[in-house]
Amino acid sequence: MLPRFRSKSIRKVQKKISGTFRYVRRKGRTACCALCGIKLNLRRDGAKSKRIPSRPFGGVLCARCSFDVMKLVGKVRGAYIKLEDIDMKRRKFVGQMMK
Ligand SMILES: [Zn+2]
Repeated sequence: MLPRFRSKSIRKVQKKISGTFRYVRRKGRTACCALCGIKLNLRRDGAKSKRIPSRPFGGVLCARCSFDVMKLVGKVRGAYIKLEDIDMKRRKFVGQMMK
C-alpha cells in the first residue's frame, strides 16, 4: 500500500463490477451542539471567523443552549443558585464563563 493511502482519513472501497479497490477520502463529521446534539448550521466556506458565530460558545453550542448557559451564569453570579446545583453537562460551560 502506498504511504498516502495509509492515512486513517482514507477508506478502501471495492468497485462492484471490476472488483478492484479504490481509495476514498472520508467526509468530516458535521458539527453538533455539545449539550442537545442538534446539528449546527455552519458555513463550510470562507475564513473561520465567517464560518462560526462570534458569540460565546459559537460553533460548540446551539443558540438555545448557549442562552440557557448564559441564564445560569447570571443566576450563579447573582447568588440565586450555586455552581454545584447545576447538572454536570452544563456546569462545565457555566464554569468556563465564570472565569
Ligand atoms: Zn443545543
